[in-house]
Amino acid sequence: MVLNDHVDLPTFMQGVSKRNPGQTEFIQAVQEVAVDIFDFMEDKERYHKEQILRRIAEPDRVISFRVCWEDDNGNVRVQRGWRVQNNNAIGPYKGGIRFHPSVTESVLKFLAFEQTFKNALTGLPMGGAKGGSNFNPKGKSDHEVMRFCQSFMTELYRHVGADVDVPAGDIGVGAREIGYMFGQYKRITNQFTGVLTGKGLEYGGSLIRTEATGYGAVYFLANMLKTKNDDLVGKVAVISGSGNVATHAAEKVAMLGGKVVTMSDSAGFIHDPDGMTQEKIDWIKQLKNVRRGRISEYVNEFKGATYHEGMRPWGVPCDVALPCATQNELLGDDARELIKNGCIAVSEGANMPTNLEGVHVFKDAKILFAPGKAANAGGVAVSGLEMSQNSGRISWKADQLQQLLVDIMDGIHGSCVEYGQTKGGYCDYVRGANIAGFKKVADAMLAFGVV
Ligand code: NDP
Repeated sequence: MVLNDHVDLPTFMQGVSKRNPGQTEFIQAVQEVAVDIFDFMEDKERYHKEQILRRIAEPDRVISFRVCWEDDNGNVRVQRGWRVQNNNAIGPYKGGIRFHPSVTESVLKFLAFEQTFKNALTGLPMGGAKGGSNFNPKGKSDHEVMRFCQSFMTELYRHVGADVDVPAGDIGVGAREIGYMFGQYKRITNQFTGVLTGKGLEYGGSLIRTEATGYGAVYFLANMLKTKNDDLVGKVAVISGSGNVATHAAEKVAMLGGKVVTMSDSAGFIHDPDGMTQEKIDWIKQLKNVRRGRISEYVNEFKGATYHEGMRPWGVPCDVALPCATQNELLGDDARELIKNGCIAVSEGANMPTNLEGVHVFKDAKILFAPGKAANAGGVAVSGLEMSQNSGRISWKADQLQQLLVDIMDGIHGSCVEYGQTKGGYCDYVRGANIAGFKKVADAMLAFGVV
């Protein structure tokens, strides 16, 4: 075989599968992107010759480490931690940290790969990374979580830095965990720098960061509807998850006149046909962030709502859907069910919540479908703005940041339309996001030569 000769898509994917045995989530994420990029690169010799996609699909490095901590009963516990630094062609590595028993190297590699494209789409100078551990914060005391976070950062600190790699929160990592990790970083290095985002407002955090991912996913949804001269007023919305992204998505849907009827966690979903008011959403935030309870408790508080154990909410009739929990939570049959029930638009608040079959179902039905790497980029965008504020040692006002978030989501929507518009008038947002994100990273990589 001639070296650097054009390989076709199946051969490329065979190579990815061979080099990453058993890493199904990572292979799935690369497949989703590669389909569009191969098509785009068809007549672009340099991207082929310089092996750009092959290089983006090989993380710069995968750091794996042991995290030991002591539980409240004095037992020594051992967990595994990771940081996947995927690509820093356009800026310091950036991406969240996830604490969840389902975390594996494959999950973090898929998230770091996706993050590379997402961060490029924001227009801000940030590379792609992701980290985490199979540690389960659920049911742990605050002291146990603190000891774990301190131990995790005791290793991670040597691999991160304000100009090197700037982690943030993700599933299982909220304000409490970021606080413990930032405290430990500061203690070890004796430096007060913007090494993490999602920080508390008292110590360098940014206004709007907490809301940004959920709000951004709804702004993107509203932008898509606008292309059809439609809006969210009176629309019934089905949302999965009940964490940071889900609650803020629900809040913004309600603010824009829609009616949110579901929320879920890993044990089941609640259906509230009356819709969720701000008061109900605030109650869920308290339940999750302060009492650390389960979504099933909602039905004891709000009459008329029902709990559906072990089920996901996709069978509830709706106009729009926002999957905001986790990867592969919306499968082919769920997608068909949504369409059958009249759903016209889906905006992914979570990362890769729809599996490949589901994505095809949405595309074939030509409904409005926003992939996570575009729709949920508002969170990392405001993280980028937190980095800017930290570098300048200033704090911007909420309305300034709110407007920047709206502008950035408009910009991402515009990029997706630019590269995703098809001849028949349908906008393939997945293709648009993949190509727009790829192009920026690829062109930076071309400038650097073979490194
Ligand atoms: P949270 O930890 O705040 O909430 C996660 C929610 O998803 C919880 O309701 C949780 O339920 C549920 N969930 C988690 N794992 C599973 C599972 N395996 N099956 C079913 N439900 C599950 O996380 P976030 O809201 O921050 O993150 C949600 C999604 O959004 C993730 O995909 C994340 O990567 C993505 N995202 C988050 C950003 C952010 O700024 N936070 C930015 C961009 C993307 P339970 O409590 O039962 O586990």
